[in-house]
Amino acid sequence: MNFDTTAIHNNSGGSQWANASCVPIFQTSSFHYDTAQELADVFEGKSPGYIYTRISNPTNIAFEMRLNALEDGIGAIATSSGMAAISSVVLGLLRSGDEIVATNGIFGGSVSLLKNILSKFGVTTKFIDPLDITAFKQTIGEKTRLVFTESICNPTLAVPDITEISKITRSANIPLIVDNTIATPYVFLPGKFGADIVIHSTSKFINGHGNAIGGAIIDTGNYNWKAGKFDDIKELARKAGNFAFLSHLRNLVHRDIGGCASPFNSFLMIQGLETIGLRMEKHCRNAMEIARFLEAKGVGQVNYPGLESSSSFQTAKKLFVDKFASVLTFGLGSKERAFKFIDSLKTAKNLANLGEVKTVVIHPASTIFREFSAEDLRLLGIEEDTVRISVGIEDIEDIKNDFNNAIENTLRR
Ligand SMILES: *Cc1c(COP(=O)(O)O)cnc(C)c1O
Repeated sequence: MNFDTTAIHNNSGGSQWANASCVPIFQTSSFHYDTAQELADVFEGKSPGYIYTRISNPTNIAFEMRLNALEDGIGAIATSSGMAAISSVVLGLLRSGDEIVATNGIFGGSVSLLKNILSKFGVTTKFIDPLDITAFKQTIGEKTRLVFTESICNPTLAVPDITEISKITRSANIPLIVDNTIATPYVFLPGKFGADIVIHSTSKFINGHGNAIGGAIIDTGNYNWKAGKFDDIKELARKAGNFAFLSHLRNLVHRDIGGCASPFNSFLMIQGLETIGLRMEKHCRNAMEIARFLEAKGVGQVNYPGLESSSSFQTAKKLFVDKFASVLTFGLGSKERAFKFIDSLKTAKNLANLGEVKTVVIHPASTIFREFSAEDLRLLGIEEDTVRISVGIEDIEDIKNDFNNAIENTLRR
């Protein structure tokens, strides 16, 4: 099946779900068995079955299978948020004394997790420029256990060359973890280009409508856990083969950390996935038009990987061909102007999310990144005058008019 067909039909149920046309919501915390032995066997893994929704649930599994099919992985785990997905992966792989190599300019919550939380447990993170391939070679050392980046960095919109980075992580025998939230599997499949684990905040384009928070972890099958650097997972791999990491998460880390998805949210995520191809096609087209429109307007620097002026354009072209997702940033010269621009918008909403069907804007420096130091903001590419835009799927003329009127109003004295 091709992408759009998979998004609609993969594991959409059958007679075991009374031929329901939509995946049903299994709104239950637990699952009963007739005999004590049967439940004991499920606990032991001797027979298949559901136990408790924190570990797994049929609606969650349906969503996991569908997203996994779109990412072309070997399996997935849905989580309560994107941050829960990242936390489970890093806590599942690392121990005190280990090091992470991560790239600058990634999601603020991820930076804070790596810097402020993991450091308390003796895990050190070294941040490097995502576009500097030699920096990966130079920074990965004896203690490095994973490399973490985003396929399109949010908010810098840098596009790291996953192919080249994966060659380096492969030779260092450590997994490359790629947060694919901004690109989505419609624009980019990190696993095809060598990434080992894919992360999603499904709260964004996968959900698409801003009505639920969620996340997901996908094992692409590229990393050889049998010969990896993780003794506990290696041990598991003798029985579970390459499913060892997913099994390690499902039966231990994800289970014990407790960041499980709600079945109701998984239902909403499945609804979102069914139209992701259609939505992303329009998101990408609208974003390209808005980027060109803002550039032509000549107000300030427009940053979008689909523009030739972007330092990531060549890599984006190589990896994504002709679709560049729908997040962009632009500068207006001052914080006052940025605020005035946002206040002048009539259709676009000012809110702390992205990837919704509606166009949304935010002033990052005073909101999502307000706790960050001046140095961190510089690395994030966030200036006092930066506005981040997630271009929606409204009629392009209406978005353009809204932006045009807001810019005119901002520049009027
Ligand atoms: C939003 C976001 C996250 C965090 O996801 P939540 O669902 O909000 O926890 C992680 N990575 C990226 C790139 C994001 O945009």
